Amino acid sequence: MVRYRVFNERLEKLRLNNLSRTIRDRASSQGPVIRMDDRDLINFASNDYLGLANHPDVKDSARESLDTFGFGGGASRLLGGGTALHRNLEEKIARFKGTETALVLGSGYSANAGIIPALAGEGDLLLSDERNHASIVDGCRLSRAETLVYRHRDMTRLEELISSSPLSAGHRYVIVTDTVFSMDGDIAPLYILCEICLKHGALLYLDDAHGTGVLGGGKGALAHFDILPEPWIIQMGTFSKALGSYGAFVAGSSEVVDWITNTSRSLIFSTTLPSCVAAASSKAIELAESTPQLLERLWDNRNLAFALLKGKGYDTGESETPIIPLKMNSIEDALHLSQRLYEEGIYVPAIRPPTVKEPRLRITVTAAHAKEHIRTLVETLEEIQG
Ligand code: PMP
Repeated sequence: MVRYRVFNERLEKLRLNNLSRTIRDRASSQGPVIRMDDRDLINFASNDYLGLANHPDVKDSARESLDTFGFGGGASRLLGGGTALHRNLEEKIARFKGTETALVLGSGYSANAGIIPALAGEGDLLLSDERNHASIVDGCRLSRAETLVYRHRDMTRLEELISSSPLSAGHRYVIVTDTVFSMDGDIAPLYILCEICLKHGALLYLDDAHGTGVLGGGKGALAHFDILPEPWIIQMGTFSKALGSYGAFVAGSSEVVDWITNTSRSLIFSTTLPSCVAAASSKAIELAESTPQLLERLWDNRNLAFALLKGKGYDTGESETPIIPLKMNSIEDALHLSQRLYEEGIYVPAIRPPTVKEPRLRITVTAAHAKEHIRTLVETLEEIQG
């Protein structure tokens, strides 16, 4: 018996349960219309909220940096250094977020996997929303801290959990949450979270991956709630979504960021981002700040899509942002609808367990969509479902 063959049986089981995944690659850049399988498709599957992933200035910026800094980073930041472009990006992010300082990291996933264990260890208590992103879940697992998961956005439950879990001396509570939940598009109640943190002396770790560039005039979820940065609030975010680039950052007090620099394993043991990626991210922040029309278009488009879908009676859950789920009764329904849309030239992937409990189509609207794209989506959905 050859041991690896067990994977084929397991893959077959996934296929039988409609849970098998395949990669579909593009023959085009990201954008409102993409090319796949030799066809043009209207694209509602990208987190490129401001349409910057293919922006000429972003591309120029990356290109220009290549002559001076070349491509590969060569080693981890602590070993081989970053470049002036990394430092420049960190200064921009700190200014953008209104924090003392910021640090650039590899990807959103690796940022969460590295930072959370830097903030909480054995004897500490992590409190995590049940719908937090998988990278937060994995960061909690890697931390060796006890993790209590609270019902989604249930602040009463969170308060109960923290009140009934005393810590021994020298240990801390860390509350971790997505600001915008990536599969539901709803927003964490940050006012109440801050009150709970203040009351119990907890740290608040925010994953603002889908808030950065989207909420609070682009500055993110804290700005959306008019909450000023505090030394006990640690903001992580990504360049890979509204900023159309790749990589992540953490913004906060110098003390916390210095600690993360010294202890986050995904920073210490992973190669630094290529300089051209840092250059592209910097340009994207400049564009997000200097072109408020992008954000206006994003929200106009989002509001149009949401109103049309709601008007047709779709279950869009608690969506408050450009992430709009269409909840489905079964995995089969979600797959069937996604496939039918694909045949009609519209790309909206089905999201299934284990990513979510309730199967759905996940629609993401961007500033780059034309109103016509959105109307076509809603009309096509209606035609299919007849
Ligand atoms: N956090 C959240 C909330 C996310 O949605 C994602 C990406 N899906 C990540 C972290 C990971 O970011 P990245 O894609 O840059 O690894």
